[in-house]
Amino acid sequence: MSQINADKLASLLKLSHDLGREDRGLAMLGEGNTSCRLDDDTFLVKASGSSLSNLQESQLVACRFSALLPLLKAGAMTDAEVEKALLDSRVDPAQPKPSVEAVFHAYLLSLAGIEVVGHTHPVAVNSILCAGDEPCRRFALERRFPDEIVCCGAKSVLLPYVDPGTILAQKIRDETDKFILAENRAPRVILLQNHGFIAIGATTGSVLAATLMAEKTARIFLGAAAWGGPVGLTSENVARIDSRPDEHYRQKMLKL
Ligand SMILES: [Zn+2]
Repeated sequence: MSQINADKLASLLKLSHDLGREDRGLAMLGEGNTSCRLDDDTFLVKASGSSLSNLQESQLVACRFSALLPLLKAGAMTDAEVEKALLDSRVDPAQPKPSVEAVFHAYLLSLAGIEVVGHTHPVAVNSILCAGDEPCRRFALERRFPDEIVCCGAKSVLLPYVDPGTILAQKIRDETDKFILAENRAPRVILLQNHGFIAIGATTGSVLAATLMAEKTARIFLGAAAWGGPVGLTSENVARIDSRPDEHYRQKMLKL
């Protein structure tokens, strides 16, 4: 493995351990998965059945984009067919089976500027994502305070619940493509109703920052609800923060 890819692997392990920390309540046991792009042909993704908190190098599987991206266009597939496709996508057949979510990781890592993906099931975020359509819509489309915009973007992609695996990957592709067409840039956050959270970015730091800030925002959202809120920023205020040069400078300095 080249030095560049060894550095990417070490950085992805660190992100996985940061997202799996028990005190943060973002993922426990086998919940969640992480990935990073290695080159135009391959990416690393967490192996099925492993834990983020103590993920080992041997539990990161190198997969080929060319073996998984066609599944986004496939019709209904049986569980056995998906299993075979996942196993066939490995660069080294001696490595363990990749996560069943490797298909959406492949899609997201194929977007311009996206190098890292982190998927978790955070407690406060999921409290909102399990509360019905209206709070989900407000959490995804409104913004409450400036640092939320700096770390999580001016709005998020929101998906209804669908079956994890290829159907979820296809839905993520559909809604993210729509977002990119409308906003002219990739989202930082994708919210899955009754399921969980995905952060995407150019660095492991931006993925960790978006995840931690979204979880903090969710706690504030739930706290404000006790006082009749939350009250979102106006769209003018959101646009202002989103376009301020000093905020862009801060994003650059924080490697967001
Ligand atoms: Zn999940």
